[in-house]
Amino acid sequence: MAVQPWYAVLGHPVKHSQSPRIHKLFAEQTGRLPLQYDALDIPPEDFGKRIREFIAQGGKGFNCTVPLKELAFQMADETSHRAAQCKAVNTLVVRDDASLFGDNTDGVGLVRDLENNLKLNLANLDILVLGAGGAGRGILGPILERSPRSLFLANRTADKAFDLLKDFSGVRDFYAGGLHDLEEKQFDLILNATSASLRNDLPALPDTLLKPDGICYDLAYAAQATAFVQWGRLHKAALSVDGIGMLVEQAAEAFRIWFGVLPDSAPVIRILQKEREA
Ligand code: NAP
Repeated sequence: MAVQPWYAVLGHPVKHSQSPRIHKLFAEQTGRLPLQYDALDIPPEDFGKRIREFIAQGGKGFNCTVPLKELAFQMADETSHRAAQCKAVNTLVVRDDASLFGDNTDGVGLVRDLENNLKLNLANLDILVLGAGGAGRGILGPILERSPRSLFLANRTADKAFDLLKDFSGVRDFYAGGLHDLEEKQFDLILNATSASLRNDLPALPDTLLKPDGICYDLAYAAQATAFVQWGRLHKAALSVDGIGMLVEQAAEAFRIWFGVLPDSAPVIRILQKEREA
């Protein structure tokens, strides 16, 4: 008897993940229902064993979220250039010989949300990225490919930002530092890639950090406005939004990797936003 293809998001915790809902909406839109896509709570210490079980039971592809992206990178037999650049994997393909191909769709997801949905031209902007963790690492390459006027990476632990800067040595107008280096600097676009929002917190930021008509974007998303989205509103950002669009866009790219078709993300973003407002 043929084993049914199985897809999943793996994380710890994972029960609040929107990924099963998003992928089922994509499957409906592209005529690929039924799609079996589940959320599996897997502690890091069980990761290898549970992946082998998943594959044995028909697993064809999976997403990884916190705290499994770095482990997934180590586990992959081969990775894309963009995953190798940030040493983290959020999308895996199980190949016919059961080997794993790992990719990272976070950066492309963010850039598509900024460019296609929010209509920003990154080339004209002085951009600040707050946070040099997994997400910060994942978005740097795709943003730098857009040749912004400048990019500053600031991290609470400054050394981590300097280490990342070294990985991109030779890239012009790319700078790094600690949060204390932000005094007297101003940016058109501030991307919050810290995990502070998850605790409804935010890094201490100078009041003058955002240029007039600047934009704030929190990679985190929540039912209510995050602390950083509120900071943007308080500092008169032309736009201050969270990462729900990025979430859908990174999922759309994962869906394309598995099924060869890029779904239309806009109606899915609208559905999730409406559900939130309700
Ligand atoms: P991570 O690897 O744990 O990194 C956390 C980062 O946040 C580190 O740079 C850390 O600085 C910094 N940080 C934490 N608390 C802070 C505070 N109070 N003040 C200043 N800096 C603080 O986490 P991650 O995987 O990069 O995730 C970061 C965020 O991106 C999360 O909110 C996650 O939900 C979001 N995300 C969203 C999407 C999406 O699709 N929308 C995709 C991926 C990630 P230190 O290095 O000094 O500890």
